[in-house]
Amino acid sequence: MKETITRKDVLLGMGAAALSPWTFWRQTGASKPVGWAVLGLGGYCTYEIMPSFKSCEHSKLVGLISGHPDKLTRLGDQYGIASANRYTYDTMDEIRHNPEIDVVYVITPPATHPTFVVRAAAAGKHVCSEKPMAPTVADCKKMIDACKKAGRLLQIGYRCHYEAHNLAAIRAVRSGALGKIKSIHSDHGFDMGPGTWRTQRALSGGGSMMDIGIYSLNALRYLTGEEPVSVKAKITNPPNDPRFVDCEDTVEFELNFPSGLVGHGSGGYSWNPGKNMYEVVCEKGTLLADPATPYEGHRLTIDGKEVSVKRNNQFAAQIDHMSEHVRTGKPVLTPGEEGLRDIRIIQAIYESGRTGQQIRLSS
Ligand code: NAD
Repeated sequence: MKETITRKDVLLGMGAAALSPWTFWRQTGASKPVGWAVLGLGGYCTYEIMPSFKSCEHSKLVGLISGHPDKLTRLGDQYGIASANRYTYDTMDEIRHNPEIDVVYVITPPATHPTFVVRAAAAGKHVCSEKPMAPTVADCKKMIDACKKAGRLLQIGYRCHYEAHNLAAIRAVRSGALGKIKSIHSDHGFDMGPGTWRTQRALSGGGSMMDIGIYSLNALRYLTGEEPVSVKAKITNPPNDPRFVDCEDTVEFELNFPSGLVGHGSGGYSWNPGKNMYEVVCEKGTLLADPATPYEGHRLTIDGKEVSVKRNNQFAAQIDHMSEHVRTGKPVLTPGEEGLRDIRIIQAIYESGRTGQQIRLSS
């Protein structure tokens, strides 16, 4: 065993390691890829998720569920989805009779996740739900309970947990190779256009914190490996901006970790230019990811020197991870409980923003 860990050691062997198709077959007895249906054919689904199935090794897109029959026809034809595997929200419960579909991937506005997840689980399917998991803690628990009751897995679409640069950063920080963390902060924000569900609380459950600040929060948790014991937050809304009558703009928050470390995070919906980064100052070096959580073009440095990381398709890695676990039955890396933890903290952040008080989080 080597006594010292070098920068190279820290970065070796990283990446969301998917099983080779042969190993997958041997270990799981699978004779075909896991069948997925995507639900909610909007921007993220059609531009990122659907095209990523071609990079998957263990997963196949076999079904569509949408509230728009025209999208079912257009995208169904484009992706060669059998007519029998195209469902509307009204007919989706019929998937219980469709053995080709193993997993339903819910990619609609957050307030709609609970109902769709519960329906998919009740139809006997494993479920992946996009982040943020749901507007309230009670919603999240309902989703977890429904999947447990049905004996099905629930994965939350935290793609960064499957992305090679974020995995490299986690390993670099958590291995201790950089020494103790002295300071950590993460900022995520952009300039949100008007007139979307993202600024309508009834559909979004909140503003920037739910949608983009959650990346800062989740990064502070996955980099440190700690769960905060209390939070303090400040919320700022620009006056007379119609985007912020129903939801918040900028949230700055502090997470107090059990080790005594204070993590600083933020989220914003009126930032131009936007921000997408985290920085971890450690005893033996400073890790900077900027951009940290984009769809592509990640950049990771330690003490200003670029860290070379083999790029991966994070969407495919996330999907294939779920498929492997559907076959083995083992818990996934980002289960419902992970989504619930973020929502519980976000609710405390909102409470602190309203009251100006430090809010304790029960374990
Ligand atoms: P979008 O507006 O582009 O698409 C939303 C889809 O949901 C559309 O097909 C729309 O028809 C449908 N929809 C809208 N209101 C609905 C309702 N009331 N009931 C049922 N369906 C409804 O949004 P998007 O950017 O694709 O976001 C969808 C989900 O994906 C959200 O949870 C969002 O946070 C998440 N997302 C995640 C990432 C990521 O990187 N993980 C990126 C973008 C979006």
